Amino acid sequence: MASSSCYNSPCAACKFLRRKCLPGCIFAPYFPPEEPHKFANVHKIFGASNVTKLLNELLPHQREDAINTLAYEAEARVRDPVYGCVSAITFLQRQVERLQKELDAANADLIRYASCNDVSAPPLIGPQEIGSSLHNMALNRRMGYDHGGGYPFPYPPSSWNDQNPSGGGGNI
Ligand SMILES: [Zn+2]
Repeated sequence: MASSSCYNSPCAACKFLRRKCLPGCIFAPYFPPEEPHKFANVHKIFGASNVTKLLNELLPHQREDAINTLAYEAEARVRDPVYGCVSAITFLQRQVERLQKELDAANADLIRYASCNDVSAPPLIGPQEIGSSLHNMALNRRMGYDHGGGYPFPYPPSSWNDQNPSGGGGNI
């Protein structure tokens, strides 16, 4: 905590209120003389006596955060008397929503792109190709031709189906 009392110069609060800045001034650590607007804004919006009350109710380690919050809110309220810091919060919330939508769209594009690549990358083997190759393998085994598949198909598939009483190739 920087105390302006060590520089023998009144803190910004005491200077603004035209009073003597005594050692142990409650404002001194938070309102250094080089930031006169900080106290002026806080005083204008919240009032010096309210700030004193607030500081006295807080634990010392909470005071700096509280004063910085008051200073932020006061500055925003001075700049935008109607909405204050709500306008900044609203603006940032809209930005977060917009960026979230952009992120969702980018993720959806990525998923679409990845799934398109997965389908086209390996050699195309659709369900029909798999089915017919299993069909050929089963037939070759049954007919003793299971040695590399070099033999031409001996019978048309329909006639094989007719000769297959066990059905469904369950004996593979
Ligand atoms: Zn002071």
